[in-house]
Amino acid sequence: PPDVEKLGNSSWTFIHSLCSKYPEKPSTQDKVEINGFFNVLSRMYPCTWCADDFKKYLKEHPLDNTDNEGLNRWLCGAHNEVNKKLGKKEFDCNLWKKRWRDGWD
Ligand code: FAD
Repeated sequence: PPDVEKLGNSSWTFIHSLCSKYPEKPSTQDKVEINGFFNVLSRMYPCTWCADDFKKYLKEHPLDNTDNEGLNRWLCGAHNEVNKKLGKKEFDCNLWKKRWRDGWD
């Protein structure tokens, strides 16, 4: 892809924002569909080596679709894995809600 950094930053923004709206009490359909979303992402993310590593991560760390908090904690962990790989600072997962849902106030 032409710009892995821009694609990545935009994608994380979209993914975190989408997951921040995942229900507190997800239905069976919600769970099936969020699994599908991440499966598609891991297969079709338009940076092949990123997708391959992400697929491996997903396999070794199945996503937590239990509820809103679980999904977002899981996602934070997945993003931190990429941060680590790239030598970026790890994000404090206690802050996910402020960053992606409620704002810093
Ligand atoms: P980003 O990592 O894009 O983060 C954007 C913002 O999210 C940050 O400013 C911060 O406020 C917030 N944030 C950071 N960490 C977390 C967290 N753990 N939880 C919640 N919020 C957080 N690039 C590669 O070079 N190689 C790869 O293998 C690779 N794999 C990727 C896999 C996926 C699924 C995605 C979506 C992206 C991948 N990228 C990869 C891109 C890479 O992760 C970054 O997006 C890119 O390097 C730009 O980084 P950035 O500094 O703008 O911050």
